[in-house]
Amino acid sequence: MDMPAPNSEIIAKKAMIAARLRQVLPDRAVIEDPAETRAYECDGLSAYRCPPMLAVLPSTTEEVAEIMKICNEYNVPVVPRGSGTSLAGGALPTADSVILGVARMNGVLETDYDNRIIRVQTGRTNLSVTGAIEEDGFFYAPDPSSQLACAIAGNIAMNSGGAHCLKYGVTSNNLLGVRMVTVAGEIMDIGGAHLDAAGLDLLGVICGSEGQIGVVTEATLRILHKPEGARPVLMGFDSNEVAGQCVSDIIKAGVLPVAIEFMDRPCIRATEAFAGAGYPDCEALLIVEVEGSDAEIQEQLDKILDIARRHNPVELREAQDADQAARIWLGRKSAFGAMGQINDYMCLDGTIPVSELPYVLRRIGELSKEFGLDVGNVFHAGDGNMHPLILYNANKPGDLEKCEAFGAEILKLCVEVGGCLTGEHGVGIEKRDLMNVQFSEADLDAQMKIKDVFDPKWLLNAAKVFPLANSQARRTAA
Ligand SMILES: Cc1cc2nc3c(=O)[nH]c(=O)nc-3n(C[C@H](O)[C@H](O)[C@H](O)COP(=O)(O)OP(=O)(O)OC[C@H]3O[C@@H](n4cnc5c(N)ncnc54)[C@H](O)[C@@H]3O)c2cc1C
Repeated sequence: MDMPAPNSEIIAKKAMIAARLRQVLPDRAVIEDPAETRAYECDGLSAYRCPPMLAVLPSTTEEVAEIMKICNEYNVPVVPRGSGTSLAGGALPTADSVILGVARMNGVLETDYDNRIIRVQTGRTNLSVTGAIEEDGFFYAPDPSSQLACAIAGNIAMNSGGAHCLKYGVTSNNLLGVRMVTVAGEIMDIGGAHLDAAGLDLLGVICGSEGQIGVVTEATLRILHKPEGARPVLMGFDSNEVAGQCVSDIIKAGVLPVAIEFMDRPCIRATEAFAGAGYPDCEALLIVEVEGSDAEIQEQLDKILDIARRHNPVELREAQDADQAARIWLGRKSAFGAMGQINDYMCLDGTIPVSELPYVLRRIGELSKEFGLDVGNVFHAGDGNMHPLILYNANKPGDLEKCEAFGAEILKLCVEVGGCLTGEHGVGIEKRDLMNVQFSEADLDAQMKIKDVFDPKWLLNAAKVFPLANSQARRTAA
């Protein structure tokens, strides 16, 4: 993975730029000691690391605006950062960049139950949005598995999803408005507390723009009443393909569970050793959850269990109480941590039509043998959002490159069957050089023209998302 050479002229001005930033920020909000900037050298894609020149931690939108004015004046690249859990390298710094972290901006600004909205600063973690309203019977639906740590800022930038997004939609379906600071330090409000904004759908451009367009500092989010009840059922199968076919049949039948999650044997084994959730010994399992009143739950589950039985499950376990429900979810929620305990891994993220699940799972198995690297699958199957975890040894020369090549083949496969390079983790640097597989030169140029409008000097998170060769002329000109 290549990154452009850092600009030595900017690095030479580090002390002066830090001094300018201290004029508009409290002393403790500017970090320049290399021992401390190292904390920002990578995100969740830890295979790639580079400490930034400086990191700044503002507390208000106005401070963000001042930072952007200074960086714009000195042409300093800026990498916005929430909690740094991106799995696509979206928050990876360059050596000449300033990391602009919004973690200190974590307040709740307004809750309005009459209109079912909450307005927060974007450094607030996803789970603590629900934490602020659950006592009153409300919740915020998008639930990335990283929700304890990841921030609303990163959720908006990556248009994040989660297990329960099958029913409730992803971030873009639950975001009503943002306050954003432009690269020139202008503060803009886009959207608001109502369903649809007037004019062009700029909110649609910003959600999923991966820190390329502006720094999002506040968000107005839709909140929902907690459902009357929810019940998961665990299904074990003796092959990945059969489990994949079962998912496809549930979706085809028109039942809408809140979640359909998939795990294969390597992930089941690892999570059992890690969390001891009591999962069955099988090749693949599904967790299917439905919500509603008791009668609604039963009606949906009857249909789902009926479909599952046609696929000869080795286990069908319906949660009988909240304790059993929590145990069913325990393994799935611990899966990424459990896999990380046994191996280095790279987590991929591609989306496919659900009907292609059996074929794609089989091909991933075949590719795993061809590349000689093991792979575990744990993903949001109902959305067709695949997360193959490729296991490799970071200390073995050549293994990372092999892992990258294997990953590229899987993502090409997703596109080949009519899917997409990214489901919810974004492009970042991880899929940047594969964008040509999905998009023509003209498509990419049209997308970069949108960045030109918001960020004419290409200071914001440049060298991400767009293949280096395609963006080279723009970055050089800027
Ligand atoms: C164990 C684990 C499980 C995960 N599970 C899921 C999952 O189920 N679903 C899912 O969607 N993702 C998942 N992720 C990926 C990750 O958590 C999400 O992409 C998340 O939204 C990133 O949020 P963050 O605050 O950590 O963002 P960061 O990593 O800090 O940044 C992500 C991107 O957002 C940009 N950005 C950050 N702040 C701003 C801002 N204020 N304004 C503009 N741009 C900004 C950054 O420049 C970067 O491009 C998982 C990650 C881990 C480690």
